[in-house]
Amino acid sequence: VFIAFEGGEGSGKTTQARMLAIWLRDQGYDVEQTREPGATKVGMRLRAILLDAAHQGLSARAETMLYAADRAEHVEKVIRPALERGAIVVSDRYVDSSLAYQGAGRALDQQDVARINEWATGGLVPDLTIVVDVPPEVGLARFASPADRIEAEPLEFHERVRREFRALAAADPDRYLVVDGTQTPEEIAAIVQDRVREILPD
Ligand code: C5P
Ligand code: MG
Repeated sequence: VFIAFEGGEGSGKTTQARMLAIWLRDQGYDVEQTREPGATKVGMRLRAILLDAAHQGLSARAETMLYAADRAEHVEKVIRPALERGAIVVSDRYVDSSLAYQGAGRALDQQDVARINEWATGGLVPDLTIVVDVPPEVGLARFASPADRIEAEPLEFHERVRREFRALAAADPDRYLVVDGTQTPEEIAAIVQDRVREILPD
């Protein structure tokens, strides 16, 4: 079982991924909790390149390819091996982040971004994608100051990102859960657990 968390800056998806992993482990499941970018050795170097404030103005196409490279390594070295041993994979971000940030955010052709990522992942799609949805002004206000190059983008950029996550979910409601991220972490976790219960193996 492969579950991905998606959402904008300060949405609380990292907290939710952690809470879900703990809840699943408590029930005895083998859980691989992972994240993008940066879950592998090479991925950590890609993450540093991608988020470095000194790289302001990085070409949108180069940015897309670097996130896809991180993802390819992530799938091959972490996600597929975990799925093969029967673990539940809980990933903080996956392909939809590229459709939202590079496709919608950077205004690249959505089909191109989708195609590059399909190739990078060998077509691996999560069984469930959970979008933790918050208005960008709420998410960004949860940080004292931008922590990286992307968080420093203007509000309109983050509005496009949010709109894309919601559109992706609306287009495939059976494979998505959109949860209101302005609720308390416990309230959100309970909603997530109810949905995840439906896809758990016995
Ligand atoms: O989730 P986390 O904050 O660790 O992600 C790191 C940064 O990478 C974020 O600022 C996020 O907006 C950015 N990102 C991106 N495109 C992706 C994935 C992440 O711009 N495809
Ligand atoms: Mg961040």
